[in-house]
Amino acid sequence: MGASTLKPGVVSGKDYDILMAACKEGGYALPAVNATGTNTVNAIMEAAAVNKSDVIIQFSNGGAQFFAGQGLPDGDQAKVLGAVSAAQHVHMLAEHYGVCVVLHTDHANKKLIPWVEGMLDHGEAFYKETGKPLYSSHMLDLSEEPIDWNLGECARILERMAKMGMSLEIELGVTGGEEDGIGGEFDESADNSKLYTQPEDVLKAYDLLSPIGSFSVAASFGNVHGVYKPGNVKLRPEILKNSQDLVQRSHNVGQNPLNLVFHGGSGSDKGQIKEAVGYGVFKMNIDTDTQFAFSEAVGAFVDEHPKAFKYQIDPEDGTPFKKFYDPRKWLRAGEQNMVKRLTEAFEDLGSKGKSIARA
Ligand SMILES: [Zn+2]
Repeated sequence: MGASTLKPGVVSGKDYDILMAACKEGGYALPAVNATGTNTVNAIMEAAAVNKSDVIIQFSNGGAQFFAGQGLPDGDQAKVLGAVSAAQHVHMLAEHYGVCVVLHTDHANKKLIPWVEGMLDHGEAFYKETGKPLYSSHMLDLSEEPIDWNLGECARILERMAKMGMSLEIELGVTGGEEDGIGGEFDESADNSKLYTQPEDVLKAYDLLSPIGSFSVAASFGNVHGVYKPGNVKLRPEILKNSQDLVQRSHNVGQNPLNLVFHGGSGSDKGQIKEAVGYGVFKMNIDTDTQFAFSEAVGAFVDEHPKAFKYQIDPEDGTPFKKFYDPRKWLRAGEQNMVKRLTEAFEDLGSKGKSIARA
């Protein structure tokens, strides 16, 4: 193995399985980067092309809504339409960047199941027209619900998705952090069965879902969403290894049978990221750090040209400021710094130079 190649562009179905297997065999993971508009989408594809890495572009429900426009009166509709519009943009452009791109949507809790189903309505129409799914995968995060209900819903939705060759990302255990409304501090002495995914639960998911279709698991091993003070993140990547070993033993399959996902990795130790990747993590979410990179560069641009953001023409000497306040100038500065931050992510995850796309 290791010789697998794919055509550049959006990958799904068996091709997505090939890509996930290539990551695990090659000992690297792909960054899954949150996007909110064409600027961030294009910066992600540019970064992947520059680094010769494949990449995952993902949208949260809020990111999809922003893509559609905050002015649309029906927010729920905007979350669906924005996701559809964003995916069409990526389908149009991805192959021209010469790398493989996975299209994915992020966390959907119980309240957001209708969002996922709305995207699937559009996805089925797209599939009918093109023979390809609109998204490579969606995520359902029902980790706050009882495990049996969580897995039952995942099975129901995966049945529908598998018909189009789509993959489902699920979440087991609770990942702390702002997104989930949980405080940043862990009490290590507390009942940590809630904070760390149990390998038995992962096996349960494998038993139920693997006969239906392709799926991946975001497991909690002490990871948190957002950036916290050093010392507050106590990662235990061995939980991932224990889950892999249990599934491997129970089903008599090869090493690292599970496709694992690392959520809330911002600010974590590079050694532990490497260890997690060795246990079959093929996808690591990144959002906080790329948001900051974009804004940091825009802030620096404004600091450098403060008058251009107050006056069209210099009130003292009549110099026109158009070349500074043109939004393309400062948006481009943001894009370029996002590319720079993503270059670091590709290096940390070992995916730089490893794209399996061949024209
Ligand atoms: Zn998560």
